[in-house]
Amino acid sequence: MAEQVYDVIVIGSGVMGSSTAYSLAKKGRKTLILEQFPILHSRGSSHGLSRMTKLGYREQYYTHMMVNSFKMLAELERETGTELWINCGALGIGPENDDYLCDVKKALTNVGGAVDVLADEELKKRYPMLSYPQDHVGLLDHKGGLLKADCILRGLQTVFRQRGGEIRDCEPVMAIHPGATVTVTTSKGTYEAASVVIAAGSWADKILGPLGLSLPLTIQRVTVCYCRELNPGSHSPDHLPCFAELYGSPPYEMWGLPSYEYPGFAKFGLHSGPEISPDTRDQPDGKWVTDRVTAYVKEHFPGLEPTPSITEQCIYTMTPDEDFIMDYHPQHHSIVVAAGFSGHGFKLALVVGDALSDMAMGQVPKYDMKPFKIARFQDASSQ
Ligand SMILES: Cc1cc2nc3c(=O)[nH]c(=O)nc-3n(C[C@H](O)[C@H](O)[C@H](O)COP(=O)(O)OP(=O)(O)OC[C@H]3O[C@@H](n4cnc5c(N)ncnc54)[C@H](O)[C@@H]3O)c2cc1C
Repeated sequence: MAEQVYDVIVIGSGVMGSSTAYSLAKKGRKTLILEQFPILHSRGSSHGLSRMTKLGYREQYYTHMMVNSFKMLAELERETGTELWINCGALGIGPENDDYLCDVKKALTNVGGAVDVLADEELKKRYPMLSYPQDHVGLLDHKGGLLKADCILRGLQTVFRQRGGEIRDCEPVMAIHPGATVTVTTSKGTYEAASVVIAAGSWADKILGPLGLSLPLTIQRVTVCYCRELNPGSHSPDHLPCFAELYGSPPYEMWGLPSYEYPGFAKFGLHSGPEISPDTRDQPDGKWVTDRVTAYVKEHFPGLEPTPSITEQCIYTMTPDEDFIMDYHPQHHSIVVAAGFSGHGFKLALVVGDALSDMAMGQVPKYDMKPFKIARFQDASSQ
């Protein structure tokens, strides 16, 4: 017998689960979040103080979603009375006429986003701390910036609770039984709901396997590196935007954020890392990642000490095309699957939560959901 009955149970208190629950509570649904670890833990993908945001994506559908994401972020700022981001800009760096940058510029122009293309001398003048070859340009997305990630996560959970939402942490979900209603069994009890949203991050396969669904997800450890400023304050958000460059072969994305989390240390990461299991995250050797960051900083950021002073670990859950998965379980319409946020989901979390909450309520989301269907993977099959 279920202890309690809810409209929706959300599994996972990362930014996707929390945002979905926040939306459900605001839409008047009685909602429970179940989380295996203590709230605000650092074992998944949503911990830490900062993430990059931007308006322009190469893909028009994400750019359209970002327009709404900024509006929803402003609403969360009003609800929490807290500043949740710093509008320091997002800079894409690459060779002139690079396809990727041209597509982003087009997408930005289509939604009326302010954008500058900074060539050689202009780039040097605007950002003297950068050192890139003469043929490189900087595409400055004015709407971009730094998200205060931990404040956003806490804000979502606070508003959720204020609206009557319930969070049970340290309570791993052990089994899900679909039926006329869905029964969820945890280490501590049994709960029932009309529908369930599974937002379990890199543990998605562990929960979905027993439900007969296998998704093509790759789990990677991402090492975040913090490099010390030689001249204190020179790489703060007042001077340096968030930035990203596709470089090397195969093309790796190197991304970075101004000094904020640890004042005096700019943040860098490679959009890739060793494959891991989320339960044994720190076991494999990932020295090649910090070596690449060190070489990159040495070449392009002469005002920083290239060897990272601090490193921290986080997890990416990648899909083959790096598009998200937001869909109903193929056999069970009362189960919504949210997975594979592929290292770029935080900035879209509010929109993701809005879409997933509509799906859990049996309503059609207002976004183009075609790119996120499970059916796009030929080998995503029932076991
Ligand atoms: C280093 C790094 C940098 C990033 N930078 C950016 C960026 O600049 N911009 C951007 O937009 N995005 C960025 N991202 C991506 C973004 O942070 C992720 O897409 C997002 O956090 C994914 O959230 P999630 O809720 O899906 O996963 P998670 O945060 O991992 O949440 C899943 C939750 O489910 C819980 N769970 C799992 N199994 C169970 C179970 N059986 N029972 C109960 N609970 C369970 C887990 O404990 C976890 O709390 C970055 C990610 C990393 C790692």
